Amino acid sequence: MMASDRTAAPASSGSAPVASSAGVGGSVGQTRPQQVAVLGSTGSIGCSTLEVIAASAGRFAAWLLCGHRSVGPLLEQARIHRPRWLVVTDAAAAATIGAGALPAGTKLAVGPDRLADLVTAPEVDRVVSAIVGAAGLQSTWAAVAAGKTVALANKETLVMAGPLVMQRAAQTGGSILPVDSEHSAIHQALRSGQRQEVQRVVLTASGGPFRTWSQDRLATVTPAEALNHPTWSMGPKITIDSATMMNKALELIEARWLFDLPAEQLDVVVHPQSIVHSLVEYVDGSVIAQLGPPDMKLPIQYALAYPERYAGPARRFDFGATHQLEFEPPDLERFPAVRLGHEAAARGGTSGAVLNAANEEVVQAFLAGRLPFPQIARLCERAVTEHPFEPEPTLEDILRLDAWARKEVRTWMC
Ligand code: NAD
Ligand code: MG
Repeated sequence: MMASDRTAAPASSGSAPVASSAGVGGSVGQTRPQQVAVLGSTGSIGCSTLEVIAASAGRFAAWLLCGHRSVGPLLEQARIHRPRWLVVTDAAAAATIGAGALPAGTKLAVGPDRLADLVTAPEVDRVVSAIVGAAGLQSTWAAVAAGKTVALANKETLVMAGPLVMQRAAQTGGSILPVDSEHSAIHQALRSGQRQEVQRVVLTASGGPFRTWSQDRLATVTPAEALNHPTWSMGPKITIDSATMMNKALELIEARWLFDLPAEQLDVVVHPQSIVHSLVEYVDGSVIAQLGPPDMKLPIQYALAYPERYAGPARRFDFGATHQLEFEPPDLERFPAVRLGHEAAARGGTSGAVLNAANEEVVQAFLAGRLPFPQIARLCERAVTEHPFEPEPTLEDILRLDAWARKEVRTWMC
């Protein structure tokens, strides 16, 4: 494999996010397991990652597990996976862990700074970045700065600081491999041609539970309705983002930086079955797609094992059944978040960080029953429009504007 190929496209074009370490060690018994740090191991992606590791026949082992507050499930994971380190980022939650609760050989570390330090340890071969929200940036940045190979679920890292993160990876020899199913599909489809042959990249979106709802009815959406996703089972934040289609906005920005594609080459199509995970159209009109049942274990395994493939635990496409695949353009009137994502991807700078921070705040308020559903996109748009835009922000600028957006949005909701 190509050690220098670490930006965002297929090996053939020299621009894919690619593992820069030496392979995954493939068959059992030939090499030691690759040591994996799983950040956000108690979440939806984290649990799926541990299933992939458990079913990897010794290819992978969990070296570090990290959760925020769910100490019980985290200790249970530690008993099963016997990691070297268990990290609890919330100090109060960590304080509830009694003496003797940890399995032999597992040490406890507390807080985000300790996590950012431990992901850089020489023992770590792969980092799965699956903390939700802006809280994932610090440890992901630390891993990239240490030249690690990062399987990235935490799209917020690229939404907030895409250019800086990709630049840092290029400097350190680190690699970013997408876990997001759309970006995993694009990564795979980009292996079909040369970079200059790409016409456009099309991200699929399920359309969420309210795809067919009228504008008036959208005003009545409750948190329980929004948490009921038709095709994917995910954590609460991304489930709400799927309902507003803000998830697609974040993914457009993620794709912009991960694959270094101009926003004009990025498109969204609604595909309610979530079987086609995204598509690349080439200049000759060929459209290359990646298909599979909606199961995150496949993109997780792809990111962990790249460039190898092996028979893993992900669900298989059933060719014995009749399937219908539908595609329709997104309705930007009812789902204005998609337009916001396009605009932020085109404008770059601090737009993504502000959009993300505002969205995190308003989603919390919506979940708490304090904000009507249509206001989510409206307040995000206001934050992006009103923020003091920086075209080439530093990490400090980004964190400052993240805090600015949260504070502003909170005052608008009072
Ligand atoms: P989740 O809510 O199920 O899990 C979040 C994890 O992050 C938990 O382990 C939690 O303990 C941890 N966490 C929460 N707050 C934290 C904090 N302040 N500091 C440290 N850790 C914290 O979320 P999820 O659905 O697994 O999503 C995780 C990430 O993966 C998100 O960025 C999401 O956008 C992305 N993603 C998820 C899916 C999916 O299918 N779930 C698909 C694509 C991308
Ligand atoms: Mg996705």
